[in-house]
Amino acid sequence: MSVKYVCRYCGKEIGSIHDNHITEYQLGFHFLTPEERKHIISYTSDGDIVARVICEYCQEALERNPELSNPLQ
Ligand SMILES: [Zn+2]
Repeated sequence: MSVKYVCRYCGKEIGSIHDNHITEYQLGFHFLTPEERKHIISYTSDGDIVARVICEYCQEALERNPELSNPLQ
């Protein structure tokens, strides 16, 4: 299984993990509410995970312009 982290704002790939033994528990996904999971995590047809997070650049931009923050539409 692999996990790919992409920025939900700009689509940039932030990083990825390739580990056949990693679990959602190790990734911390169990901390998410079902609603958050629906928005953040998706699965590819290969069974890999895509986690839509936020990159440093967009994080900074949001801190400067909080009104931009409406990502879950
Ligand atoms: Zn970004």
